[in-house]
Amino acid sequence: MDHVDVPGQIALDIDALIREAELDAAPAWTGGPLRLTFDYRTPDEHAAAMQRWVLEHGQGGCHMWSPAICHQPITIEGHELHVLSVDLRTEHGHEGPGALLYQANCTACRWHEVAASENEAVEAMHDHAVPDWRDLPLMPRKISAALSNPTRQSLAAARAWVEQNYPAHRQHDGSPIRTTRTSMGTRHVPGRSPFGGFDLTGEVV
Ligand SMILES: [Zn+2]
Repeated sequence: MDHVDVPGQIALDIDALIREAELDAAPAWTGGPLRLTFDYRTPDEHAAAMQRWVLEHGQGGCHMWSPAICHQPITIEGHELHVLSVDLRTEHGHEGPGALLYQANCTACRWHEVAASENEAVEAMHDHAVPDWRDLPLMPRKISAALSNPTRQSLAAARAWVEQNYPAHRQHDGSPIRTTRTSMGTRHVPGRSPFGGFDLTGEVV
């Protein structure tokens, strides 16, 4: 049998009809304002608002906060830390109102800080939960270099070094490490410390 293409416009109309039916069936929205906000909201509240916005307006053109790519929530000493982003750049030929923004968000404290870059958001998050992170010793490159593709051995070596060189209160789940980088790779990398925390760029050579 021949393959039958659904013309684009019909597919869009069907999507709109489905959305309309879902919107009719959905309870009235009682959450926060359905637009970009710089006020504090939990990541769940942002997600619910975004879901509602998409229900009302469809995919595309939604400028609201959502979890940043490649970031999992981390817990450090009672802080519940998230990195969110919102893309306000030009998309699909439509001019956007601005830039790609990030925010660090702690649900335990209902704290957040908006930042102009991912690294700044990650630093704000550590200023909040790990105020002495800038004092952590730099891990030697021969040990840290192996962490981008770790083996059990290299992970054990990193752990042993941290145990000898980091204060005890910075050897818990979610704790970061600081490493030396080249200008090719200065991103603070989530999940790459031996404690599941960030590998923070401490110095660039
Ligand atoms: Zn906190």
